Amino acid sequence: MSTQNLIEGKTGLWEVVIGLEVHAQVVSRSKLFCGCSTDFGAEPNSQVGFFGASMPGLLPVLNQVCVDQAIKTGLGLEGTVHLVSAFDRKNYFYADLPSGYQISQFARPIVTGGHLDIDLDDGQSKRINITRIHMEQDAGKSIHDLHPQKTYIDLNRSGIALMEIVSEPEMRSSAEAMAYMKKLRTILRYLGTCDGNMEQGSLRADANVSLHRPGTPFGTRAEIKNVNSVRFVGQAIEYEIYRQLEILEEGGEIAQETRLFDPTKGETRSMRSKEDAHDYRYFPDPDLPPLRLSQARIEAVRATMPELPDAKRARLMADFGLSPYDASVIVGEQEIAAYYEQAVAASQAKDHAQAAKMIANWLMGEVFAALNRDSKTIESMALPANHLAQLVDLILDDTISGKIAKDVFAKMWDSGKEPAVLVDELGLRQISDTGAIEKAIDELLARDAEKVGEYKSGKEQLFGYFVGQIMKVMQGKANPGVVNELLKKKLV
Ligand code: ADP
Ligand code: MG
Repeated sequence: MSTQNLIEGKTGLWEVVIGLEVHAQVVSRSKLFCGCSTDFGAEPNSQVGFFGASMPGLLPVLNQVCVDQAIKTGLGLEGTVHLVSAFDRKNYFYADLPSGYQISQFARPIVTGGHLDIDLDDGQSKRINITRIHMEQDAGKSIHDLHPQKTYIDLNRSGIALMEIVSEPEMRSSAEAMAYMKKLRTILRYLGTCDGNMEQGSLRADANVSLHRPGTPFGTRAEIKNVNSVRFVGQAIEYEIYRQLEILEEGGEIAQETRLFDPTKGETRSMRSKEDAHDYRYFPDPDLPPLRLSQARIEAVRATMPELPDAKRARLMADFGLSPYDASVIVGEQEIAAYYEQAVAASQAKDHAQAAKMIANWLMGEVFAALNRDSKTIESMALPANHLAQLVDLILDDTISGKIAKDVFAKMWDSGKEPAVLVDELGLRQISDTGAIEKAIDELLARDAEKVGEYKSGKEQLFGYFVGQIMKVMQGKANPGVVNELLKKKLV
């Protein structure tokens, strides 16, 4: 057994066990059982109608768009989409849940099974199985910090469709859990079934964490609720691992409980002891018949599936020879992958594979740095994909050196002009004319006769100095290949 993920305690080795329950808000204009809008950030309680406010006598009407989104998610994660599923009432009493129950799927979820392959830092991937995906309503929001004695309730979020995606307890470190969140977010965004916006709460995780001795049954878990960034998932789990380790090493027991993560302190703290499932008194919602799907409907959704990140990554590696790492970064966001493919298609270079690799380098180097610096995104930046391609083509056909290309890049980023136009306007065309370069070399070697002597008597590192001097004289525009070749000839 690999000891890679085990923790060395004072009393021996421990294994960490993590399972994630992720709530993903479904991309849909209206809520799961009514026509109210799902827009984020509206005036409190402006997006709730009679049904959402639980006025008596109103019935739920299932939003079919949300159902198709759940089907698509199930297919994207390679699970089984069930032809019959059902809605249950999950009863609990909380101020932001005026009906006293949440409509969810308990006994018969729409999807069971499935998996996703997480990408780890060492370049390996690991398959994490998915237990189930079910649909449910979101609750409203209690706002405790607007008044010293009162709690305000905002029901705008109440009734919005969520998919709860439950993993098997198969992760073994906080790094694996973070990789799982990242990969799941990427896949959902490719599918267009969840926008993955963690700051706005569109994607949030409950992290279940336990420790046990390797080879023995799993330990008691604590569940950390509603963690809303990938980084916080990592921090919350790390804190929790060491909190539990300390208790277990001293012979104590872990209480099965729900905990909250406090990002400002970096700690988890107890919220309530865990209610057992039967406390929710689940029963089938009498207002909703079982959800029946036809195979034709599932196939119709399948026909709309985009190429998913793993397939795209494999294709970029096979077609363009990208490294696994570069390919992963590029497919990480669908928009970046689309931009990259547009640029590669626009390149006119003879060696198309080399152009593809260089475009990847420029994208991940220069373009990402500029995006970062200017707080822009690939969609909001002004640099068209064909300009990046043209820049790389100019390097490959020796019109400019890689060094000059960086200056051209900065100018094209700011001006939006085509790189070829800039090269001409600024007179940056590389000099490959051997006559001009030879002349410069002859002048330099005559002036630096002493250094030439040193070089010839064995001080070979001076070669770089000569190259540098020529480049300086020729304002960086000399073709470095030609300079090297001619210098070698002249220095024998
Ligand atoms: P509940 O719905 O009550 O939270 P489940 O049994 O459905 O409980 O499990 C929820 C999550 O907890 C799943 O993601 C599962 O993988 C994870 N899990 C179950 N047992 C453990 C354990 N011993 N340690 C860590 N995670 C666990
Ligand atoms: Mg749970």
